Amino acid sequence: MSHYDYDLFVIGAGSGGVRAARFSAGYGARVAIAEERFFGGTCVNIGCVPKKLMVYASHFSEDFEDAAGYGWTVGERRFDWPTLIANKDREIARLNGIYQRLLTGAGVEVFEARATVVDAHTVEVGGRKVTAANILVATGGRPVRAREPGCELSIVSDDVFYLDRLPERILVAGGGYIAVEFAGVFAGLGSQVTQIYRGPLFLRGFDADVRAFLAEEMPKKGVDLVFNEIIEKIEKTSNGLAATLTGGKVLEVDQVLYAIGRQPNSEDLGLDRAGVELSGMGAVKVDEHYRSSVPSILAIGDVTDRIQLTPVALAEGMAVARTLFNDEPTTVDYRDVPSAVFSQPPIASVGLTEEAAREKHGAVDVFRSSFTPMKHTLSGRDEKTLMKLIVERAGQKVVGVHMVGLDAAEIVQGLAVAMKAGATKADFDRTIGIHPSAAEEFVTMRQPLPDPEDGQAAARAAE
Ligand code: NDP
Repeated sequence: MSHYDYDLFVIGAGSGGVRAARFSAGYGARVAIAEERFFGGTCVNIGCVPKKLMVYASHFSEDFEDAAGYGWTVGERRFDWPTLIANKDREIARLNGIYQRLLTGAGVEVFEARATVVDAHTVEVGGRKVTAANILVATGGRPVRAREPGCELSIVSDDVFYLDRLPERILVAGGGYIAVEFAGVFAGLGSQVTQIYRGPLFLRGFDADVRAFLAEEMPKKGVDLVFNEIIEKIEKTSNGLAATLTGGKVLEVDQVLYAIGRQPNSEDLGLDRAGVELSGMGAVKVDEHYRSSVPSILAIGDVTDRIQLTPVALAEGMAVARTLFNDEPTTVDYRDVPSAVFSQPPIASVGLTEEAAREKHGAVDVFRSSFTPMKHTLSGRDEKTLMKLIVERAGQKVVGVHMVGLDAAEIVQGLAVAMKAGATKADFDRTIGIHPSAAEEFVTMRQPLPDPEDGQAAARAAE
């Protein structure tokens, strides 16, 4: 046992911090955790969880319409934003309590206060100085704020969860996960939505077919997509806000939501004082065991700005606990991390995009299918599903799985296991489908697309 007050002091009780604290305590370490705001961090309070509840809420508008094709007459419909927010708040409070109890139940000492690093082994928390053999920075990130004139009139994703009313008209700026997710949420709830993205096609980094497909689907749900433009300025008007776009158009809206990325929460934590090196973006630089340039100070999750996903932070928290207190040096495997965008329809992907696969493997076989989901044969809704498998030609391993369509996240999670296990196209082919389902399409795609002309492939890879 060390002469420090604790074996591990965790700053930040979000997904990663809580996981590291609980498992470290489980391995017998003396652990404390400090949280200044809310237990569960971004994901539970102002991220994944309430966002997904809002996605469910917004989808009902379509579900009511779709029911008609199945013989249902649905009566008068009305959406009440305060009810959604109150119910969401109740659920989040329940989850906060669970997180707190998990910590205390595991024997972790909890400080409901801001903690800062004093030196390599000292933390100041609630006006007290305590020492620890290891300090884990798990402070997460926050939305990047815009700089355009009038941007102080805009909101970021944190604010969406506490709006007192549903905006009738909203302009969403950005082309990443958060922007497309909220554009879909607001459109489903009945707002008039415009989404503006600075490049030619949103969701940079995703497979080109996926990006183009979603850009065709979203307008069908009422989202007006504006590409190659940004907001030049925002002004207050008697009737809301006027956003001037670089193309010259002025949009009258009630809210402007910026979703232009997130940045690490690394300021004012004393990290510079302790000599912890940060990247240019303010992320804590760590080695493969999450140690910073000061070996007793570690960092995981969004503050390290690697892959900003809750399950990745959870895995990192686990890795830290095992490495430090179970004599089991562990590094997270960052290859083939599946993810979903809860756009409408949703996207889920694992592995390489077609472009990246061509670059890495040279020859690839691409299987692609797009179809009307069975549900919409009777609902009459013009919504399509896209599925895509990318196979490296030489070894026939499946190196990329992409889907846009109903239940994409639920389907791709299982396929991610197959990919992780090294499944080949032949393994997919000899798997019997579940009928009738959309997912069976992934095991029945037989005909690869013709190879693109060389020039065409290069152009797509460069997109
Ligand atoms: P992203 O990094 O995903 O996207 C940021 C977007 O904003 C990009 O389209 C980017 O354009 C654009 N952008 C950046 N700077 C500017 C600017 N100055 N003016 C205009 N546009 C700009 O960020 P998000 O905020 O959407 O989300 C942050 C991260 O959180 C995600 O990357 C993801 O890891 C995580 N997340 C995951 C979710 C999930 O798993 N479902 C849900 C929500 C968030 P460009 O591409 O041209 O750079």
